[in-house]
Amino acid sequence: MSAGGARALDLARDIAAGERSAVAVAQAHLDRIAEHDGLVHAFNVVTADAALARAAEVDRAVAAGEPVGPLAGVPIAVKDNLATRGVETTCSSKILQGWVPPYDATVVQRIAAAGAVVVGKTNLDEFAMGSSTENSAFGPTRNPVRTDRVPGGSSGGSAAAVAADFAPIALGSDTGGSIRQPASFCGVVGVKPTYGLVSRYGLVAFASSLDQVGPFANSVADAALLLDAIAGPDPADATSIPQAAEAVLPRLDEGVAGLRVGIVSELLGEGIAPDVAARVREAAEALAAAGAEVVEVSVPAVTYGLSAYYLIAPAEASSNLARFDGVRYGLRVDAPTTNEMMVATRTAGFGDEVQRRIMLGTYALSAGYYDAFYGKAQKVRTLIGRDFAAAYEQADVLLSPTAPTTAFELGAIADPLTMYLNDICTIPTNLAGHAAMSVPFGTGDDGLPVGVQVLAPALGEVPMFRAAAVVEAAAPAPAAFEIAGSK
Ligand code: GLN
Repeated sequence: MSAGGARALDLARDIAAGERSAVAVAQAHLDRIAEHDGLVHAFNVVTADAALARAAEVDRAVAAGEPVGPLAGVPIAVKDNLATRGVETTCSSKILQGWVPPYDATVVQRIAAAGAVVVGKTNLDEFAMGSSTENSAFGPTRNPVRTDRVPGGSSGGSAAAVAADFAPIALGSDTGGSIRQPASFCGVVGVKPTYGLVSRYGLVAFASSLDQVGPFANSVADAALLLDAIAGPDPADATSIPQAAEAVLPRLDEGVAGLRVGIVSELLGEGIAPDVAARVREAAEALAAAGAEVVEVSVPAVTYGLSAYYLIAPAEASSNLARFDGVRYGLRVDAPTTNEMMVATRTAGFGDEVQRRIMLGTYALSAGYYDAFYGKAQKVRTLIGRDFAAAYEQADVLLSPTAPTTAFELGAIADPLTMYLNDICTIPTNLAGHAAMSVPFGTGDDGLPVGVQVLAPALGEVPMFRAAAVVEAAAPAPAAFEIAGSK
């Protein structure tokens, strides 16, 4: 790969030691973006000038002997639903086109403080609603591994950017699987941290009780490096966990001897492609060979996760998206009265899937239906938490597929309900507020990447990453690929 395919850890070490120039590293990645992003479309905007200026600043600090952070000079791609001061933030929606935030999200401040170099904002399903990045108002992203395939979603641009080596690391957000499923489809590592571990300040809200920001990387260690840089309390986010986050990176090599790993039986049966299920079993065998105690566990309520999520998430979205009214942000379609202006703006500004969710959520919350839909979904959410708690008495971490299949072709899934089924394995984690990550493990019968999901209870990041490191070490070497195809 022309940008070198280097790992973030190596780049940061070499740049901080003055052995490599941050400007040269940034330029190599920008060149690769210029060469291939016309086809892949991972980015909504590439911030080349700012990236080179920032990289020059890192080189200057290194030369002056000033301290540089753990991500010194490492290029990073940022999902376009994270506020970036002075850089348009669209959520891949027409309604936010032209909105330039006056502030940085906390995670954006933290990566900057750690020395990272932002190369651009990545494409997503509009307002993070979707599983293929085809719901972007600005056109889909292609999977760099095979460009007739989707990259997954909603953080498809971030996953594709890392897979294509446009940046060694990226930030995404995960409400029901939006980091893990695209990571699985693109053959990269993706982490959904424990709810509250990473600040949501400056993340444009989709479903506030489920949303989390997290890392993408080409290795488990790089994902740990990025997570350690962004995790920890933030007074600007009332839901952020007040205790200092435990660093993950120093614990990665502790292995899994004695660790109890539970295979979730409900997530290996119906609806999961046999080749994907086979990879999960192989990963479990690798963990057993490394000294883990592997058992089968049952988490019965996970089978209701999808139904509960598609009431809770749209309900929260309908309320969160009420602020896009033509007055405060982005698009405004003028009309004679305020009401007509708002209707015209929201009709023109929101795409079909977003409108569908707003209507679903508004209905689920309306008087007379609240108990039957939203109230019941909240009860299911409680049951999922209880079933996980029981499973975590028998196991320290759990194992499942990340997604039921490998990446599908662009345009292959037209029906929203079929699209929603992509998230059956990932949604329960968000409902429980737990942590989970996807680690590439071989390929399906079609030669495309498969992701194995490692799940952990709240604040179980350390054992989760230890298991992930063992899965990664045992994984078959990924097949090399060229980014090829026609636009
Ligand atoms: N695909 C799921 C949805 O459409 C999850 C999205 C997400 O995690 N942001 O809601």
